[in-house]
Formats: sequence, C-alpha cells, structure tokens
Amino acid sequence: MRYRILGKTGLSVSEIGFGGEWLSRHDEAHSVELLRYAHEKGVNIVDCWMPDPKSRDIIGKAMADCRTEWYVQGHIGSTWQNGQYVRTRDMEFVRPAFGDLLKRLGTDYLDLGMIHYVDSMEDWNAVMNGPFIEYVRGLREKGVIRHIGLSTHNPLIGKLAAETGFIEMILFSVNPAFDMRPATEDLDQMFGGYDDAAYSGIDPDRAALYRLCEEKNVGITVMKGFFGGRLFDAAQSPFGVAFTPDQLIHYALTRPGVSSILCGFDAKEQADAALHYEVATAEEKDYASVLASAPLHSYRGQCTYCGHCLPCPMEIDIAMVNKFYDLAAAQKEIPESVHAHYRALGRTAGSCVGCGGCEARCPFGVPVTDRMKKTVELFGS
Ligand code: SF4
Ligand code: SF4
Repeated sequence: MRYRILGKTGLSVSEIGFGGEWLSRHDEAHSVELLRYAHEKGVNIVDCWMPDPKSRDIIGKAMADCRTEWYVQGHIGSTWQNGQYVRTRDMEFVRPAFGDLLKRLGTDYLDLGMIHYVDSMEDWNAVMNGPFIEYVRGLREKGVIRHIGLSTHNPLIGKLAAETGFIEMILFSVNPAFDMRPATEDLDQMFGGYDDAAYSGIDPDRAALYRLCEEKNVGITVMKGFFGGRLFDAAQSPFGVAFTPDQLIHYALTRPGVSSILCGFDAKEQADAALHYEVATAEEKDYASVLASAPLHSYRGQCTYCGHCLPCPMEIDIAMVNKFYDLAAAQKEIPESVHAHYRALGRTAGSCVGCGGCEARCPFGVPVTDRMKKTVELFGS
C-alpha cells in the first residue's frame, strides 16, 4: 500500500481508503471481517458519515484492538432520527449524534471531524455563522477532533472551505463523469496539465477547486469515485464505455490535492479489485485512452445511490428503490430474484406521496417522484 500526506493535517493516509456506506447492508460479522481484511492489506482511513447504530457499531468492533492504526473521518451533522438519516444543523440533534458516534466507535477522539455535507450557500452561511461551527471549533480545541474537514459535492463550497484556513481537508465527489464538460474529446485539452488552457476539458469550477486545494495544501479524500458503480457498466456509463476500478482509482488519485479514494466495499472480492491498483501496470490504469474514444454525456439527473435525499416521510429507502429501478430498466424482463429483493424492501415506490422533499435534498437533481412512478410501473407496487 502506498501512503500520501493528507494536506496540512500531516496524516499519512492509505491511497485506497474505506467508505463505510455499505456496511449496514450485511450482517455484522461479515462487515467487521471486511474492515479487518482491508486493514490487513494496509488500508488505514475509514469514512463514517452514516448515523445508523449498526454501521457505527461495526466500525467500533473492527477497530477495537487497533484504534490508533486507523484514521477515522467522522461526520458532524449526520443524525439518526426515527430510524432514518437526517442531515441537520440543529444542535439538539447534532450534539447527541456526535456523542453516539464516539461511543459506538469506542473512542474518545476522531482524527478528522467532518462538517457534514454542505452543498448550498444558504447552508454554508448557516453553518459558518451559528452555533454549529462554534461546536466544531470547540471540539477541535479540546482535541476531541484532531482536524476539521468538510464534505461537499459543490466545488464552489469546496473553494470557500479551502479558503478558510482552518478547514484542513475536504471530502469531495470525484470521477471522470463528474469532472468533464461534454465539450471535447481532445486529450491534450482534457489532461494536458493544469495550466488555464488545459482546464477547458474539465468544469472550470472543479478544476479551480483542485488547484486551490493543492496551492493551500488542503487535502482531498474522494467519495463516489465509481459513480455508484455505474462507470463499470457501458450501458449505464454516461460515456457509453465501461471503466475498471484501476482506471477510476487512478483518475481520482491523479487529481491535484487528492490523497485517498474511499471505496465502498461489499465483499472481499471488491476490496481485492480496488487493492489491485497497488500493483497495476500503467496500461491497466490508463483511463485516458478510454475517455478519448468515448462520447461524452452529462451525468446530471442520474442517481448515485448516495442516500442524501433522506429522510422520507414514508420511510422509503430511496437509494435502493432507485438502484432497483436502474437494474430493472436495463433489462427486457425483470428477473424474479430482482422482484424478490425489491419486495423485501418493505416500503416500495408505491408508498411515495410525492412530497418532493427528496428532490430538494438530492445533490444531482434526480427527478425522484417521477422515478417512483416509473418504478411502480415496472414492479407493480
Ligand atoms: S417524494 Fe416520495 S420518495 Fe421523496 S421524500 Fe416524498 S414520499 Fe419519499
Ligand atoms: S436520489 Fe439523489 S440523493 Fe437520493 S440516492 Fe439518488 S443521487 Fe443520492
């Protein structure tokens, strides 16, 4: 495993990290074992944005005898209310949720205390001018969090964070689909360096964020590096071509400022596929030639299964419904196994009352209510 310094935090993090998003989907023993397996292979950074007790307990158990060998990226403002994820700045919920995080992880400190998921200017202003940021700074002063970070999908918010001086690192969504403007297939323009002219192939605001982070020594850890798995499948990839884990990891790790890509693993085989990057040849990592021959399309409106649209008043697991919709829509006939898994969700798309709350929270502009209707048409409920 190769390690990189995470900006001004000075932490030496593994370039392949662990995103905990999928831990709660499996039984506890399986997920604890998966974390331990990754750790044995040299992975030393884990993200825990999840507020649910099960995910937090799993991470706590996996690092019970090796806490100091992990860097934990834990989120402040991600809370668990009535059995659902709620992002909030309400300190009545924020404080106990953070206390719960420490308790379940079995630790009295976090290496990276993340200001959770700020994508709008309104939220940025609310966070930076109220009790929330005072709380975060207080945790930092007491050493309960060793460094302050922020997670965002919006490069403009990322730039503001990088300019503060006290936010030392950013968790940002990075993959070729998110980065590219549908404008050119000229590799020289897309990847020819980082002078201003060469930025014309990458969205200018995103390019500016990467450049600023490098200049200011603000480290970046990467989320959604695989675009929710969509980039592994030519039929779902917005480029019309499939990428390999080696190529996508290499793409993320070659952005300026990036130190680690946090991969969400379901099984050891997936961990092995990502860890293969450490021994991959230059040819295996070559994403550029794949992009060069790919027609470029926009990703906007496509679900990455991130779960940020919750809570749902009808308690629908929107990310999973969207996942099954994508799975079903890509096939002529829906296999019975997919039907069965869909039914096992309990609350399916038919429960949607069309309140639209999820659409307001979705960072990717997914037309969720419309998708719910289409999912009902496909699955019958
Ligand atoms: S629109 Fe439907 S899926 Fe979205 S939050 Fe409302 S009820 Fe839930
Ligand atoms: S609808 Fe939007 S917020 Fe919800 S899981 Fe999909 S991409 Fe994420």
